[in-house]
Amino acid sequence: MMDPDGDLGQAWQAAAGMLAPEIEARDSDDPTVALGVAGRDRLAVLADRLQESVGTDIGLWLEGVGHAAFDEEDEARLRAQVAHQRQQSLHVDWLDAEEAKTRWPWLGPVRGALWAPAGGGVDPRMLVQALRADAVRLGAALIADRAVAIERHGDLVAAVRGTERYAARDVVLAAGAWSGLLEGLPRPLAVAPVRGAMASLPAPAGIGRCIMYGKSGYLVGRGDEVTVGSTMEYAGFNNEVTAAGLARIFAGASQICPALARAPVTRTWSGLRPVSADGLPILGADPALRGLWYATGHGRNGILLSAITGVLIRQLIVGEPTMIEDLGAYDPARFWQW
Ligand SMILES: Cc1cc2nc3c(=O)[nH]c(=O)nc-3n(C[C@H](O)[C@H](O)[C@H](O)COP(=O)(O)OP(=O)(O)OC[C@H]3O[C@@H](n4cnc5c(N)ncnc54)[C@H](O)[C@@H]3O)c2cc1C
Repeated sequence: MMDPDGDLGQAWQAAAGMLAPEIEARDSDDPTVALGVAGRDRLAVLADRLQESVGTDIGLWLEGVGHAAFDEEDEARLRAQVAHQRQQSLHVDWLDAEEAKTRWPWLGPVRGALWAPAGGGVDPRMLVQALRADAVRLGAALIADRAVAIERHGDLVAAVRGTERYAARDVVLAAGAWSGLLEGLPRPLAVAPVRGAMASLPAPAGIGRCIMYGKSGYLVGRGDEVTVGSTMEYAGFNNEVTAAGLARIFAGASQICPALARAPVTRTWSGLRPVSADGLPILGADPALRGLWYATGHGRNGILLSAITGVLIRQLIVGEPTMIEDLGAYDPARFWQW
């Protein structure tokens, strides 16, 4: 089922589409780095398959992602991250200031950069369009209706109720930031909307196609346009773009590329990320209500994790061994054991 209202602040419509698990790592033990690398590999497979099956180019490119350091503190942190991630067999390098400036002459006064050569991006809107077309090709019915409640029969899922009642043996709850609003959930779901604002500007000369993170935010160059982002704002289900949010984005973006400070802003938008209480995705079975599955809480990385989530949820439902063996960190039951 898909919500018929096309403009609620759905995260996928706002997303930058970056595939950068090495850079998005929250700390040295973040399990989503390995999940993200598997997710990126899976998207690469999917990109070819979708091109063949429905003729859609999802805009996948994997030419590397950088994270520039502009002060001593960031340099020390990113150098330590490179050392740690290399020990985990991740492919990351440290580029000194001269190398970074040679590669990206438009950078501000940089001290060096972490370089993740396997990183890249995808076009989230084309990805969703292609997946929907492929699902229909494979026999799925896409129903435009807003799910209101989950109905149960004893300890089994029985149906989803929207404007009509849809009987189902298995229900996957994947309603993004709105996942916790459904009636009939066995217990409260710890997913909150976290707003992210974005803006686009004409690309300053020489940027081309690239993704560069800085101290606060990132820029995504797509030829003649640059997209800059993003905020992490707890503002409920309010999807407005605020002056304060934009001020933070532009400050971060012009530190990365000072020429952007003089560029005209062509567009701004925002979306609501589904963020769980501990920041990790929620993937798997409800501990008590059989037939209810969760695929939500993907936070900042739900495009990166889209394909692997689909694979894992299918494997769980049909009872196959999962591609990632240990899914304990994402177990829905973790929030209800305290
Ligand atoms: C500004 C911004 C930048 C981002 N950049 C990146 C990035 O570079 N890389 C990355 O990997 N991720 C990025 N993300 C995160 C990513 O977009 C999300 O993690 C991902 O979209 C979450 O997917 P989702 O399907 O759970 O939620 P959503 O994308 O929000 O989709 C939820 C869907 O459920 C539908 N729905 C909601 N309620 C109901 C209902 N009651 N009944 C039926 N349907 C319903 C909605 O209409 C929507 O289509 C970004 C997000 C934002 C906001």
